Amino acid sequence: MTETKTIFTIALFLLWGTFATAQTKIIAHRGYWDCKGSAQNSIEALKRAASEKVYGSEFDVSITSDGIVVVNHDSTIEGIEIETSPYSSIKDIKLPNGETLPTLKDYLTEGKRHKEIKLILEIKPHKSNINEDRAVKAVIDIVREMKMGKQVEYISFSRNICCKLRSIDKMAPIAYLKGDLSPIEVKEFGCSGIDYQYSVLNKNTEWIKQAKDNNLTINVWTVNKEEDIKDLIDKEVDFITTNNPVKALELTQK
Ligand code: MG
Repeated sequence: MTETKTIFTIALFLLWGTFATAQTKIIAHRGYWDCKGSAQNSIEALKRAASEKVYGSEFDVSITSDGIVVVNHDSTIEGIEIETSPYSSIKDIKLPNGETLPTLKDYLTEGKRHKEIKLILEIKPHKSNINEDRAVKAVIDIVREMKMGKQVEYISFSRNICCKLRSIDKMAPIAYLKGDLSPIEVKEFGCSGIDYQYSVLNKNTEWIKQAKDNNLTINVWTVNKEEDIKDLIDKEVDFITTNNPVKALELTQK
């Protein structure tokens, strides 16, 4: 009987621990690239993020004129504008670590080998809503075709992209990046979270509480300084997106 009681007490304690503390999770911004042999938005950066066991690896995508979704931060690469150029004109470009420019399919194929890491997929704003809509449709088609819906979370600076994503996928986590709207306004157009710059949350101090009260997740970018990471862990935000994922992870475990 005493044994049953002890087991029950331990179980209750563990359960309490699960719900009582909001553990801040770490997302590697453009993967874990600040190490030898890696590069921003590379497959290697995804592998390194996965091996560090962070919550997620963030990356950016745009669509070419002929409908191929590629992983790159800027709207141009080596002076070529992605959304108005065919894939053939950029497909052989090398990243600083020697890798070939990855497509979304390449990135997700590697991501599928690391099921424990979330893939934080940022769809970049495009020059027209038509191109943004094409990008959203192509991204969702690929994610569905590869059966990776549970591993992918979406973020975007474009309200149009967030709305379009929500109209196609009712359940996916979608967070808005721009920082110009309150959490309540963001919820109204269908997002499940805010993903704001640290300075924006420092200017709008009530937004953390407002997001929590409205069941929105809170992600903060790009937080690299130890004191800032600690501050956000204390504020119990859900996610910190950082160029310093190893240090940040260590701070969450203290
Ligand atoms: Mg990004």
